Amino acid sequence: MVKVHKITGSYGANAYLIDAECPILVDVGAANMFDLLRRFLNPTDLEYIVLTHCHYDHTFGTAQLAEQTGANVAIHEEDAKLLGDNWATASGVFGVRAPSIEPDMLLKGGESLDLGDISLRVIHTPGHTPGSICLYSEDIRRMSSSKLLFSGDAIFAAGGIGRTDLGGDAHALVNSIKLLTTLDVDTLYPGHGDATNQNVSTQIKTSLRYAELNRKAHNSKDFYVFV
Ligand SMILES: [Zn+2]
Ligand SMILES: [Zn+2]
Repeated sequence: MVKVHKITGSYGANAYLIDAECPILVDVGAANMFDLLRRFLNPTDLEYIVLTHCHYDHTFGTAQLAEQTGANVAIHEEDAKLLGDNWATASGVFGVRAPSIEPDMLLKGGESLDLGDISLRVIHTPGHTPGSICLYSEDIRRMSSSKLLFSGDAIFAAGGIGRTDLGGDAHALVNSIKLLTTLDVDTLYPGHGDATNQNVSTQIKTSLRYAELNRKAHNSKDFYVFV
């Protein structure tokens, strides 16, 4: 049985330790992540650090953790290009420079990450950023039958959506969330806020409605802000 541990970082972004045979961490929103991981495993056992997107609050502890653990860093190729950019990573919002991160693996979407007792499909979901990804457990062997979606900042619980005004694309976000509505999801693990396992498909459909509203606002030049 694979366990998922949520570790909320300094700026409110959720990291998830997927404690599979081949353990991986989704996002690194804490400078002391190595110590935080000790509660659950020997951090040097970590195989991969997968970044859902390039934003600072999800990535700033990555270089240090990769050095401490030897884990390989994976990110979508479109967001890999943006990693050093203060604007695109939103590091300027936090008053700091974008950290230097050297990815080991560039993703395109469609890959399957085999973690031994679970495998995760990489789904390219642009909109919040050009290279945002979600991870979906499609092939479950010894795990219970639950289907998991790690959504980064594409969607949140209760119909929330990621903002598209920081280098994002309101049209692309609608298309990405449409794709997510086709998945069978039992538990949603978003990049901010609570995970949820109640009527998740209804929540994702609500996200789609908000994304369509956001696109409409974008077209009409009205200004809506989603966090
Ligand atoms: Zn973000
Ligand atoms: Zn975020």
